[in-house]
Amino acid sequence: MSLIEEIEKRKTFGIVSHPDAGKTTLTEKLLLFGGAIQIAGAVKSNKIKKHATSDFMEIERQRGISVATSVMAFEYRDKQINILDTPGHKDFAEDTYRTLTAVDSAIVVIDVAKGVEDQTEKLVEVCRMRKAPMIVFVNKMDREGKDAFSLLDEIELRLKLRVCPLSWPIGMGQRFKGVYNIYEKSLVLFMPHGKQNEDDGTMLFEDLSDPELDKIVGEQLAEELREEVDMIEQVYPKFDKEAYLKGELSPVFFGSAVNNFGVKEMLDCFVDIAPNPLPRETEERSVKPTEKKFTGFVFKIHANMDPKHRDRIAFMRICSGTFERNTNYLHVRQGKKMKFANPTAFMASKKSILEEAFPGDIVGLYDSGNFKIGDTMTEGEELHFKGIPSFSPEQFRYVNNADPMKYKQLEKGLDQLMDEGVAQLFTKKESNRKIIGTVGALQFEVIQYRLEHEYGAKCSYEPLNMYKACWIKWTDAKAFKDFQDRRRNDLATDKDGNLVFMAETAWALKMAQDNHPDIEFFFQNEN
Ligand code: GDP
Repeated sequence: MSLIEEIEKRKTFGIVSHPDAGKTTLTEKLLLFGGAIQIAGAVKSNKIKKHATSDFMEIERQRGISVATSVMAFEYRDKQINILDTPGHKDFAEDTYRTLTAVDSAIVVIDVAKGVEDQTEKLVEVCRMRKAPMIVFVNKMDREGKDAFSLLDEIELRLKLRVCPLSWPIGMGQRFKGVYNIYEKSLVLFMPHGKQNEDDGTMLFEDLSDPELDKIVGEQLAEELREEVDMIEQVYPKFDKEAYLKGELSPVFFGSAVNNFGVKEMLDCFVDIAPNPLPRETEERSVKPTEKKFTGFVFKIHANMDPKHRDRIAFMRICSGTFERNTNYLHVRQGKKMKFANPTAFMASKKSILEEAFPGDIVGLYDSGNFKIGDTMTEGEELHFKGIPSFSPEQFRYVNNADPMKYKQLEKGLDQLMDEGVAQLFTKKESNRKIIGTVGALQFEVIQYRLEHEYGAKCSYEPLNMYKACWIKWTDAKAFKDFQDRRRNDLATDKDGNLVFMAETAWALKMAQDNHPDIEFFFQNEN
């Protein structure tokens, strides 16, 4: 196959949702359609539950699962579909944000009873920043939930998505009869208790005024459906693929993942409309997938589960050309050539060594500490992929060495954990003290545990009242000197030596912004 054919074959996407909306269940059903797995229950949730805060074994177990389910590839209707897993737990949101830099589109799962939740809102915002086209799947229609029209209103209002329903529920909960597939003009009947087979209960139904409908779903629901579909046609825009691809219109499907209902309709539509691997921006230029020469970037690093081996797996998204095993490529940041004897492909939860990979594919590279998130690999060109964010952390603690004999181990451990993107390390300018900043509180415990078990180092924390750390930029040297003189105590450097302002309170940040208009403050640092 030619490179272009390989590219046209691929669709790489992520499923995002608030925890419990049904992401894991939906993923599993998609894999079943692809024949990638045979039995239900094969996909493990990588959810880190709330109670895991103090249950380290649980965290370790979860980490193991999340390696296996980080990327799942399967074939369906001659396409290769790569699903990238995104942790739903908010303390791991950064991981999810970075993973979303490696997808070309997203499916947003919403629980019909709960509607739009906090994490849904945040994750959709990130997809929007990336201009990733989104399809919405309203899940759990077998339960009582919100009225479909008010749910669409909520999606438009809170998620700021222009929606276009492509399927429509007939009843809900106990009365749920199925969906009318507006996309294919067919009626899909619901059979509860997981009795759904692929083609069960689907019938073409172009004319809803046909009295046959009353016989099938009952007079009342038939009448409701006619009225509602009428209303949809008047109120919502017609489906427009171009608008979807630009991220300006989101098709909505209704179904029940656990009953495997409405999933195939969405998957078929996804395969028809979802984008193939898209170009990616670098600081230097835009990189098209069809370029002959290979390029890729690392968006995630996962430590080996076996503490005796420090090896890590770096997840690289291929952006252009063909990646080949045992071939020398340039690690741009380090300026050195590297080749890989055992690059890994992720076909469902199986891992296998691959000979070559194409744009849109995710390759796992065994790494002994060469990579950090955002690193670019090329055939020689000095490129730097953009848009892999570090977020301004919201929780801070001083980190101290609790075992003076193990200073080196602590340094190394911290260094590597930061490369993995677990948290961010800052060094205060004045005192040289080290501060760890995270998005969620869970990371502090993960770091402490992993330092001890993987690096043999011990650390202790000291509380620190801090509102935000933000990166700063300036052009006027005098203005900067003035800022530096006054704020010496609040300055730190991040791991790459960039200057960061540590604001103790929202007020202190506002004062700094007001008093130093020539200094720019950033809450996100793009790699
Ligand atoms: P995740 O946290 O988003 O990955 O959610 P899960 O896939 O783990 O699902 C959370 C819970 O919702 C599980 O108990 C599922 O069995 C259940 N669930 C998923 N889909 C449906 C559905 O369509 N109907 C009902 N009633 N429950 C569902």
